[in-house]
Amino acid sequence: RLETPSQPIIPFIEGDGIGCDVTPAMLAVVDKAVAAAYGGQRRIAWMEIYAGQKACTVYGEGQYLPAETMAAIQEFKVAIKGPLETPVGGGMRSLNVAMRQDLDLYVCQRPVRYYAGTPSPICHPERVDMVIFRENAEDIYAGIEWPAGSPEAEKLLRFLQDELGVRKIRFPASSAFGIKPVSREGSERLIRRAIAYALAHGRKSVTLVHKGNIMKFTEGAFRDWGYALAEREFAGEVFTWQQKSAIAKAEGKAAADAAEAAAVAAGRVIVKDVIADNFLQQILLRPEAYDVVATLNLNGDYISDALAAEVGGIGMAPGANLSDTHAIFEATHGTAPDIAGQGKANPSSLILSAVMMLEHLGWQEAAARVVTAMNGAIAAGQVTGDLAVLRGDVPALSTTDFAQALMT
Ligand code: ATP
Ligand code: MG
Repeated sequence: RLETPSQPIIPFIEGDGIGCDVTPAMLAVVDKAVAAAYGGQRRIAWMEIYAGQKACTVYGEGQYLPAETMAAIQEFKVAIKGPLETPVGGGMRSLNVAMRQDLDLYVCQRPVRYYAGTPSPICHPERVDMVIFRENAEDIYAGIEWPAGSPEAEKLLRFLQDELGVRKIRFPASSAFGIKPVSREGSERLIRRAIAYALAHGRKSVTLVHKGNIMKFTEGAFRDWGYALAEREFAGEVFTWQQKSAIAKAEGKAAADAAEAAAVAAGRVIVKDVIADNFLQQILLRPEAYDVVATLNLNGDYISDALAAEVGGIGMAPGANLSDTHAIFEATHGTAPDIAGQGKANPSSLILSAVMMLEHLGWQEAAARVVTAMNGAIAAGQVTGDLAVLRGDVPALSTTDFAQALMT
């Protein structure tokens, strides 16, 4: 193997749609930053692997996700990818979902921060600085559901009424059903990762976002398991709102507030929880009150897009899918067929995903260079069409001109 620590082999997938616009831009920006940061002493040996439409061209019809591609990611452990179109029909799993499941990438990590000059619908977008940890393998994304009128749905209906004695509501015969699996193990490993991240990065709090008031045994359990885990595995490093309310009950509210203030002063991470609907309100009203966020799959989906909109939209939002051993960094947006191949797409989502990748490699200096360049370009009004339209006061740069602005 030709790989060395200063020359890691990193597989990349160009991606469908705007993948052919944003991926070359990302590769150029990263190569430039790495060369500048280490004076040519380090470089990434990029290895193209194929998925999506391009894989069908290379490997033949229907080969959307070749075994060789998965084998390369397995072997090299770190990969980066553009957006992939899910082939319609044939009952295929989405390619993204297939990769996540096959590699058990149970964390979707999405940092959300503001770059000055980005148009935003809120008054103080500079107060947004959060890192979302979205559970990536469970919840209703398991895809266990049956349509109304199907034999399975009818059987389930009879089972609920006759065997389980569910009488709360009278289900019409035309009911469809979906199953929401949430496990203790799955919740704990996600929350453990979020708390460890907060501690390692000097973050102030971890907020468990859930809908436990309605779904006690799934979303509510997520919160309860999270508090128990925090107190059990991170004793002395965290202070939870569960501990706070126990103090409030025994000694009164003033004592509880004092205990929390003392924990903050001692540098402990505060572990708290908020109901999901209230959270979506809070991130508009007081985004500065939140830092690291841990949440189940569907909540995480909504929250990620809502937060991305506050800081420039999906064209700006990076992401990573992680297991304990593997990491795939990826653009969070889709293939944007409406602008694909036209040189209009914003490559920032993929470029900032590459920043996460550089940090994951421990190449902080190169990562910092890209972030500094991003700050400078956007503050100077050098932006692609998606942001230029919202700002209305600067011309739109092409994908390559924007990338060039990051390299000079
Ligand atoms: P898919 O089915 O692959 O998810 P989609 O059309 O549902 O695709 P996106 O591709 O995420 O969703 O695009 C939604 C909108 O945002 C489109 O109008 C698209 O042009 C725009 N958009 C998405 N990504 C970018 C980007 N990187 N730069 C500029 N505009 C983008
Ligand atoms: Mg989409």
